[in-house]
Amino acid sequence: MAGFDRNFTDELRARLSIVDVVSRRVPLVKKGQNYWGCCPFHNEKTPSFSVNEDKGFYHCFGCGEHGDIISFVMKSQNLDFRAAITELAAAAGLKMPDYKPKSPDQVAREESYVQIMESAAQIYQKKLYEPDGANALEYVHRRGFNDDMIKKYRIGYAPKNNFIANKFVNVKQDNLMATGLCRRGEYGMYDFFRDKLMFPIFNAHGQIIAFSGRSLDGSEPKYINTTDTELFHKRRTIFGFNFARDAIHRANRSIVVEGQIDAIQMQCNGFPETVAPLGTALTEDHISILCKANRNIVFCFDGDAAGQKAAARACDIVMPFLRDASDVRFAFVTGGKDPDEVLKTSGADGMRKIIDGAASLVDFLWNLANAGFTVSTPNGRTQAEKFLKQKIGKISDVTLRGEYEHEYDSRMFNEWHKWRKSKNNAPKIDLPQIDSITQNTLIFITNKYPDIAEQYAEFLASLNISLDGDAPDMNLDRPAAEKYLVSLKLQKYLEKLYIQRKELAGQMLTGADVAGKIAEIDENIRDANSRLEKLISM
Ligand SMILES: [Zn+2]
Repeated sequence: MAGFDRNFTDELRARLSIVDVVSRRVPLVKKGQNYWGCCPFHNEKTPSFSVNEDKGFYHCFGCGEHGDIISFVMKSQNLDFRAAITELAAAAGLKMPDYKPKSPDQVAREESYVQIMESAAQIYQKKLYEPDGANALEYVHRRGFNDDMIKKYRIGYAPKNNFIANKFVNVKQDNLMATGLCRRGEYGMYDFFRDKLMFPIFNAHGQIIAFSGRSLDGSEPKYINTTDTELFHKRRTIFGFNFARDAIHRANRSIVVEGQIDAIQMQCNGFPETVAPLGTALTEDHISILCKANRNIVFCFDGDAAGQKAAARACDIVMPFLRDASDVRFAFVTGGKDPDEVLKTSGADGMRKIIDGAASLVDFLWNLANAGFTVSTPNGRTQAEKFLKQKIGKISDVTLRGEYEHEYDSRMFNEWHKWRKSKNNAPKIDLPQIDSITQNTLIFITNKYPDIAEQYAEFLASLNISLDGDAPDMNLDRPAAEKYLVSLKLQKYLEKLYIQRKELAGQMLTGADVAGKIAEIDENIRDANSRLEKLISM
């Protein structure tokens, strides 16, 4: 948080016992190394909430909530960071630090750093159009940047040799290192960015405070950023914000995309209100900066499992910032694309469709609960209800939280109603998911084409239905019968995959790292669907 001295929060953590603070709200019992109690963040009767005094953190094995003394006060009392610090400071008998003006020394230092960054940017920009930069220029043109864009975003090229270290001989080495441009090694100073396409990172005033360098030879990581310095704090910096601020005001919203190149392409192609975090997940600080500019936010994520996970995280972070005037939405770019590709293939109109189709936060959370739990069953509904309650609990605006609860209660009631109705109409014989027409067709095939049935014996047995008796005569020739069996098998396989996916999505909501498994299942689903389509069109 701007203006906060990290030393002060460290001091708080050092002075206060997390066990003392937690046990004012939750009775704790010591067992082994940790203290245990019933989790204040989800409903439970047996304690799965543990507090570790030495390490200063808490963790719930039931719902996955964890954090330190400050986040505990924020979450358990719905306070923002500053309010939580104030309360803890009072408990620790510490005076809150004032927002003290920067010392003249610090101001002078920062000015000199900004100057160094500015000169470096100018040199990088020039280099891009020199022979060394040919490769980089070719790459950036290929990515759809014209020279106006290169100029506006001040894109440049950092050469292979230790260019800055050699060129800035009149600058104090300590200052060069303090900007993050150079490091000191065994053989003297060397450049942090070598052979990179350089994207300057600006502060809100348009001064360059850091760089993001993209590798050009295919080496990983694709991007390296200036590490945190006195000038630059990654958690608090949003890429593109200096260019987008006025547009956010005019558009009455911001759009948040995942990558820097996406943000630039969006800004230049009809969505000047777009920004991106810096290769890291979104933080409270990012949201706080955006909310100060405008409370309406459209998050635009890739449609893959990683994008879904990022969206769920963004949803968690944005909750405490919600007010009745906020409109927060979630859009997904599907088909393995990102906004940059959508703009190239379908233009601004294609992108507008995606942004306009963004789900409201209420719907997004509901869909998340539906993806994770089977709300058509009583157990699933209970789990979904707990999940939603836990999420909504993070909304600090009491009236708004009430509205959300009301909305979900009525949706849950509808689900319950549907379930009751289906239960009353359900046939008494329990043939799981195989209707009588399907059953009759299978009996017909078994009688008429025993050799085909033999071939699919294992699958037929797995359906767990009776194939005895006579079925009405059907107009099903041999190839059609075989096709029928293959497609039924595929459908059953798909059903199984969907159930697996749902279970994994549920685990993901509680923090498990199953994105890889989900991606694998999605691949299988796509494959099975395309086989099914092919079969049907035959
Ligand atoms: Zn819990």
